Amino acid sequence: MSDAAIEIRDLVKTYAAQKNQPVKHALQGVSLDVPNGGIFGLLGPNGAGKSTMINIMAGLVNKTGGTVRIWGHDIDRDHRNAKLSIGIVPQEIVFDPFFTPFEVLENQAGMYGVARTLRRSEALLRAVHLHDKRNAYARSLSGGMKRRLLIAKAMVHAPPILVLDEPTAGVDVELRRQLWELVGDLNSQGVTVVLTTHYLEEAEQLCDRIAIINHGTLVTNQPTRELIAMARDKIVRVTLERDLTVPAEAIMGDPLLTKAVLIDPRTLEITYDRDRMSAGQVLAILQREGYTIQDVTTREADLEDVFVQLTMQQQAA
Ligand code: ADP
Repeated sequence: MSDAAIEIRDLVKTYAAQKNQPVKHALQGVSLDVPNGGIFGLLGPNGAGKSTMINIMAGLVNKTGGTVRIWGHDIDRDHRNAKLSIGIVPQEIVFDPFFTPFEVLENQAGMYGVARTLRRSEALLRAVHLHDKRNAYARSLSGGMKRRLLIAKAMVHAPPILVLDEPTAGVDVELRRQLWELVGDLNSQGVTVVLTTHYLEEAEQLCDRIAIINHGTLVTNQPTRELIAMARDKIVRVTLERDLTVPAEAIMGDPLLTKAVLIDPRTLEITYDRDRMSAGQVLAILQREGYTIQDVTTREADLEDVFVQLTMQQQAA
C-alpha cells in the first residue's frame, strides 16, 4: 500500500438531468491523496462538490468515472474492505429518538458485524464524554451531545479513517472547540481524519493539509502552513479627512500596490505585498497626493483572502 490513506484518481460525477434541472457536473476529474495519519481538510464553497466526494467514499453515491482506493482497497473491486476502513459522520443528525446512546452504538456495531466480544460501546461513550448519558433517550440529548454520539457511531468498527462532513456547521463557538478537541484526540490516537468545512478558520486551526475544490475541480492541495504563507498580502484601511476626488484605482499609480478599493467616499482599503513595501510607504503615497489621514487600521491577509485569490485565478485561467 502507498502512504496514502485515500487515493482518488480522475474522479468524475455527473448527476443526470432532472425535470427543470440540467445535467450537473459535480466532480470534473479530481485527483488527490489523503496522507496517512493527518487531518485533511476539504474546503470549498457551497456546491463545490465536497459532499459528493464524501458520499462516493462512503458508497452512498455512485461515481461516473475515476478510481477511489480507501486504505488500499478499491471501492469497486473490494467494496467490503473499503467500507470497513472508513467511518463517516454525516452532516444531518438522524437517530431513532427512542434508542439510548448505548443502544445506538450496539445497533451500529451489529450492522457492521462486529462480534460482541470486540464491541467497544462503553469505551467509545467515554471517549466522547457521553458515558453518563449511556442510558438516556437519544431525543433528550443536546445538539452537541448528538454530534458527539454521531462520531462514536462512526467509530464502532474501529476504522483507520474517519470522515466528517461539515462537523461544526451551525454550532456555537464553545461546542465547535469541544468537537475540534475530540477530533484532535482521535487523530493523536492514530486515526486519519478527513473533514469538509466551509469555515476557513476551522481548516486553519485543525488541518495539517488542505485541498480546495471549486466547481468540481481541484484548486489547490498543500500543507496548511504553505497555504497560509501564500497570504503575503497585507491590507490597510485608511480614512481620509476629505472625500477622494479621483477613482480609487488611480491611487494605484504605484505598481507595487496590488489593489485599492473605495469603501465609502473617505475610506480606502489598499492591499499590498508586505514583502515589497510597508504601510508607511502606502500612507506616504496618499499624503503626497494631498490627503490628510484621519485613521489607519491594518490586517494580515488570511486563508479567506487566499481562497478568493486562488478561485479568481482559476476563473481567469
Ligand atoms: P458541497 O458539498 O461542496 O456543497 P455538493 O457535492 O453537495 O457540494 O454538490 C455539488 C453540485 O452537485 C451542486 O451543484 C449540487 O447542486 C449538485 N448535486 C448534489 N447532489 C445532487 C443530486 N442528488 N442530484 C443533482 N445534483 C446534485
